[in-house]
Amino acid sequence: MIRGQLYVVSAPSGAGKTSLIKALRARMPEIGLSVSHTTRPMRPGEENGVHYHFVDVATFEAMIAAGAFVEHARVFDNYYGTSKAAISAVLASGRDLILEIDWQGAEQVRAQFPDVISVFILPPSREALRERLFGRGQDAADVIARRLAEATLEMRQHPHYDYLIINEDFSVALEQLGCIFTGSRLRMARQIEAERNRLENLLNTPENP
Ligand code: 5GP
Repeated sequence: MIRGQLYVVSAPSGAGKTSLIKALRARMPEIGLSVSHTTRPMRPGEENGVHYHFVDVATFEAMIAAGAFVEHARVFDNYYGTSKAAISAVLASGRDLILEIDWQGAEQVRAQFPDVISVFILPPSREALRERLFGRGQDAADVIARRLAEATLEMRQHPHYDYLIINEDFSVALEQLGCIFTGSRLRMARQIEAERNRLENLLNTPENP
């Protein structure tokens, strides 16, 4: 069984990361997406166990103490974390897996999984970022203002990632994201595993006279 490839995708809030990953997974449904734990309140339309595992601070801190997380961080005053359980089963089953996490989490994942492929998504401009943040209409104005400041901090981390996508045109950005996944599946080490039978057939079968 080939181990799945682990991906980290980070972006400032408002860069369109969640929509891009959703569209990518509609095209490539075999790619798994890790469901994180968080202590932030549920937003309208979100579902427990689907968008996040929503837990209280005491539960989250107990999980940290128990060593249940691969990585965790505080983002906007809330805890976010990827549980070991959320990733090990998927990777062991041979499926690729995306972690949609912030730069602090990405740093911790890189230290533990040197083969991780990391992608950073940026909005095309400061104006577009502001518009996308305010346009969502799900958070209070002071929260959004703070998120703009946090977004700048997050955006400064882009040089630590393997790939950079500018989400100016959604369909172009989606195409580019798909190329990263397709390209990594075609890498020789992975193809030798995935195409073992075919390669054996091609190289070893003697011709019948
Ligand atoms: P939101 O509250 O808008 O869903 O997410 C806020 C930020 O937390 C985003 O940058 C998102 O990528 C990040 N985030 C979500 N889940 C995790 C996680 O499990 N670990 C880390 N480190 N960051 C996360």
